[in-house]
Amino acid sequence: MSVTFSVTLIPGDGIGPELAEATVGVLEATGLAFAWDVQQAGDATIAAEGTPLPDRVIESIRRSGVALKGPITTPVGTGFRSVNVALRQALELYANVRPARSMDGIESRYTGVNLIIVRENTEDLYAGIEHRVGPDAAESIKIITRAASQRIARYAFEYALRNGRRKVTAVHKANIMKLSDGLFLESCTQVAADYAGRVEFEDRIVDNMCMQLVQKPELYDVLVLPNLYGDIVSDLAAGLVGGLGVAPGANIGAQAAVFEAVHGSAPKYAGQNKANPTALILSGALMLRHLGETAAADRVEAAVRAVIAEGRSTTYDLGGSAGTREFAAAVASQVGGA
Ligand code: NAD
Repeated sequence: MSVTFSVTLIPGDGIGPELAEATVGVLEATGLAFAWDVQQAGDATIAAEGTPLPDRVIESIRRSGVALKGPITTPVGTGFRSVNVALRQALELYANVRPARSMDGIESRYTGVNLIIVRENTEDLYAGIEHRVGPDAAESIKIITRAASQRIARYAFEYALRNGRRKVTAVHKANIMKLSDGLFLESCTQVAADYAGRVEFEDRIVDNMCMQLVQKPELYDVLVLPNLYGDIVSDLAAGLVGGLGVAPGANIGAQAAVFEAVHGSAPKYAGQNKANPTALILSGALMLRHLGETAAADRVEAAVRAVIAEGRSTTYDLGGSAGTREFAAAVASQVGGA
């Protein structure tokens, strides 16, 4: 008997809705059945519901356990926090996984990049605990706990084992932040001992890591980082393989998972059938893997690679002139015909 997957679909703002529509088309071309629970969040709901993240959105994800999410604008200069950060915290989505893999047909300075960035998603400077100290100074508090650091390290090692990866590199600044980053490194080192002989372990100071990544990215495999370094280094990694238009992501927790592109809502391209849906489509493929549909995920990824390599239906950011819909239709027809 075939299964129907219940998935919360958050179209998001800016380019989000058109990318979400493109991605749904590709995922449905696999022949799998989905029941999409469409939940609006972001700009549209601020006026109507007084918040960019109504409780119903979180309740839907709690029910379905899985969400596919378009980008959401973070309003500047209003009291609203980032919906993206709030969702990760409310659902305890502790692992942010961002693969960065070279693709034929995408011009880039590098070939053979195949990195997995595993970013701790719940604490560090992203805890958002900051205050002014008098009129001319401010303090942000960096929170690092052993529990969260060990949890993310274990996730990185388990990911490596599950996916046939050989090495985990912990990234930190423990030479300067001896207590906070020191605890992160100590936690990773403790967890690494449980995987000795199965997955290699090493560590790098974050500044050196950035230099190494632009000089010889092919030496690295799975990276595990505290929240802020993970945010920055994952954009750097996206740049190594062709930019934000092709960088997918997954936010994983024990009870729920939210799949979204690394990029934002790019408002200047909204509604123009111009943005590249690759990152959200590949996030959809990560979702299929999470749902145990490995063969369908492989087909979606292979179809994206084939259409990009062939080069006739790519979007502007990859040097082509196809629109969002045309690219997605080419991918969907490869998926359907495979
Ligand atoms: P952005 O990623 O939206 O856009 C930066 C530039 O990257 C764009 O101008 C465009 O040139 C390019 N780009 C991004 N996505 C693309 C795509 N799919 N296809 C082709 N080109 C693409 O970053 P920003 O301008 O800093 O942020 C805009 C808004 O998005 C902000 O409000 C920000 O807070 C929000 N944001 C949301 C998320 C999220 O929802 N997870 C992530 C990052 C930023």
